[in-house]
Amino acid sequence: MDILNHWLSGASFIGESTRTSPVYDPARGTVQKEVRLATVGDIDTAVAAAKAAFPGWANTSLAKRQRIIFRFRELLNERSEDLARILTAEHGKVLSDAAGEVARGLEVVELAAGIPHLMKGEYSENVSTGVDVYTTREPLGVVGIISPFNFPAMVPLWFFPIAVAAGNTVILKPSEKDPSAANWMAELFTEAGLPDGVFNVVHGDKVAVDALIEHPDVASISFVGSTPIARYIYEQSAKHGKRVQALGGAKNHMLVLPDADLDLAADAAVNAGFGSAGERCMAISVLVAVDTIADELVAKIAERMAGLVIGDGLRSCDLGPLITKEHRDKVSGYIDLAAKDGATVVVDGRDAKPNGESDGFWLGPTLFDGVPVSSKVYVDEIFGPLLSVVRVKTFDEGIELINSGPYGNGTAVFTNDGGAARKFQREIQVGMIGINVPIPVPVAYHSFGGWKDSMFGDTKAYGTDGVRFFTQEKAVTRRWLDPSHGGLNLGFPENH
Ligand code: NAD
Repeated sequence: MDILNHWLSGASFIGESTRTSPVYDPARGTVQKEVRLATVGDIDTAVAAAKAAFPGWANTSLAKRQRIIFRFRELLNERSEDLARILTAEHGKVLSDAAGEVARGLEVVELAAGIPHLMKGEYSENVSTGVDVYTTREPLGVVGIISPFNFPAMVPLWFFPIAVAAGNTVILKPSEKDPSAANWMAELFTEAGLPDGVFNVVHGDKVAVDALIEHPDVASISFVGSTPIARYIYEQSAKHGKRVQALGGAKNHMLVLPDADLDLAADAAVNAGFGSAGERCMAISVLVAVDTIADELVAKIAERMAGLVIGDGLRSCDLGPLITKEHRDKVSGYIDLAAKDGATVVVDGRDAKPNGESDGFWLGPTLFDGVPVSSKVYVDEIFGPLLSVVRVKTFDEGIELINSGPYGNGTAVFTNDGGAARKFQREIQVGMIGINVPIPVPVAYHSFGGWKDSMFGDTKAYGTDGVRFFTQEKAVTRRWLDPSHGGLNLGFPENH
């Protein structure tokens, strides 16, 4: 059985650990390789290497750093299909979806290639007579990134291109469930000319994560994953004096108003509800339908679901398997629960006939209507191809429902009424909003992050926030002395 090693200082690194974790092929239900799980000692070794690489990289000119990012962008673009295949093989998402993931990650690399512009400081001349003030932005040092299973390429790409471009050295701890994409990207970065030790990948579980958080030479932690772990990471990182951004889970609602184009809304609900088998933090898992159009909308969604094909990601299907058998069983358990809690099971995904091997971790798209908001089916982040319809009497009731939940990652409204859309945008307590756009993931030059329990910390991922997160500002107050500045004055400096 192949064992995937860490990637340290531009080469494969075995480390001292004897513990490994299985990496499944979810479309076949088999173990395809094992991945090493780092010890505290392995983290110490990795941090020491990244620390040693930091001064050289931080002092490399912006022009040289920019050229390496450009080269990495070119290689990633040329070989994006290879990366997409790795994603499909380990995550299970269909190849077209995997290609989309790589494309969205590539956008952040393109943003990072503009780092000379992004790191520019500010300048104020003659703030006091003969005195100028200016600011510079400097890298933090060794930064840690911890990523989830559902976007093994895109989520790391939200962070490391900007971190590296800004002059930091990086340790990425990807999900142990689909770890190969991280090594592939690190190897590609080395090929692009990145000096050894600047971008490192260490595999592992809680042991590795805790060791990174507690290490005194790690300056910051960027985390994406489920809410309980995000909260833990935020608290622990702050306790250890680190800068931290921790993005958590979600339960995203799509509100459909009576004046909306119901065919477009039904298309959007199916795409956003079942794409990537619902394993997206921006997936729509609750459809809030105003009573008057709910029957028609549910019928249109069910009609579209009949044509969806679940199966092997390499066989032109619409959605693939779930990440593990355990997760599939947990998700499918919600179907009986929905019925028990009084919802109508309109489409039962357990009946789907997959186009793939019989032992794959399959679960077809499932639709519930009339889900009570007290049910765990409504409350829990399920992270699978289950879409719940909740009916409301009015637009205001819909807004109130969305605002009453603990999460605030993404939401969408479908309407042709500009005034209603504007009211929604102003009143809704959610970080990323779509107006007739079901998955409103901001482009790379805006920033990604939710509100409430969907994000802990105050600096979002990528965009300007990303640059701020991976740099610290220095403010310089300067004057060139001449004889008129002589004399003693112990008072607080005043500006004249
Ligand atoms: P997870 O929280 O189980 O794992 C995320 C990372 O944390 C992994 O690298 C994992 O190894 C590590 N980890 C797991 N348990 C840990 C522990 N006890 N202590 C320390 N580290 C631990 O999340 P997942 O199942 O890999 O990913 C799915 C979750 O991620 C969903 O909740 C989804 O909504 C969320 N997510 C959020 C966003 C966002 O931008 N808000 C994006 C993608 C995914």
